[in-house]
Amino acid sequence: MQALILDGKKLAKENEELLKVRVNAIKERTGKTPILATILVGDDPASATYVKMKGNACARVGMESMPVHLSKQTTTSELLAKIEELNENPNVQGILLQHPVPHHINERAAFESIERRKDVDGVTCLGFGLMAMGEKAYGSATPAGIMAILKHYKIQLEGKHAVVVGRSAILGKPMAMMLLNANATVTICHSKTEDLEKIVSEADILVGAVGKPEFIKASWIKKGAVVVDAGYHPGGVGDIEKAGLDEIASAYTPVPGGVGPMTINTLISNSVESGENFLK
Ligand code: NAP
Repeated sequence: MQALILDGKKLAKENEELLKVRVNAIKERTGKTPILATILVGDDPASATYVKMKGNACARVGMESMPVHLSKQTTTSELLAKIEELNENPNVQGILLQHPVPHHINERAAFESIERRKDVDGVTCLGFGLMAMGEKAYGSATPAGIMAILKHYKIQLEGKHAVVVGRSAILGKPMAMMLLNANATVTICHSKTEDLEKIVSEADILVGAVGKPEFIKASWIKKGAVVVDAGYHPGGVGDIEKAGLDEIASAYTPVPGGVGPMTINTLISNSVESGENFLK
């Protein structure tokens, strides 16, 4: 049987229609438009593209974005000062700091300086901790977007063995916590994991978040597994080998058109929620 395609692009489009209605309601009630500030430090073309896509997604639902572009020489303290200014700005309800920032900047300090109520990308330690404890917080956008896809397609998580390959602060770790909170039994793999192939072969739900093109081979994957590929590399290549997935997986996210659109959609959805909370 052919695998079910977990179509993040289609789901994001449907969600945008609902978000438009909510943004309109905010405008009618308060006369104000919610604003997401997007901070880009440096000139990395991929990051610039992601920020542009996020701004475009704001426009599609009737929100505004406030692009803040800082030079690659920006220091940590200059970046912190800019974030503080946005924290204080009542017209801004959400702050996105595009990751990664140039190496000389203390990215963790910058993330931590974002006011929690404006942390719509779910990057602060406090936001992570609350989410991990099952308390209310904006989850990190990529894993939260993945959870939204799995929920939409009614993928059973409870009792299933979920294997997450990658443990980054914005993706692998929060992904594992979200799956755990959904009652999956979770294994987290990383660069020091021994016998990765064997662990991957035991996954009912597999999430690839490695950052290496087609690093996880289709032949490692158990027949019938649900496969989520968070990776994105030039040429529309993910972290999981595409060839053969149709026959092996019961369902999978395509690259492109799977996780990426739902990452942006989750960020925008969180920003709308923040707008609703602030603009009363
Ligand atoms: P990252 O910060 O580079 O983390 C990569 C993770 O993979 C690390 O935890 C690393 O382990 C692990 N890893 C590296 N080599 C490995 C190996 N040989 N075996 C097992 N694990 C290994 O990357 P990230 O930011 O989490 O992103 C991961 C992927 O998702 C990338 O392809 C990125 O482009 C994509 N992404 C997509 C979106 C989207 O919107 N679609 C958003 C964010 C990221 P260690 O911790 O031991 O180093």
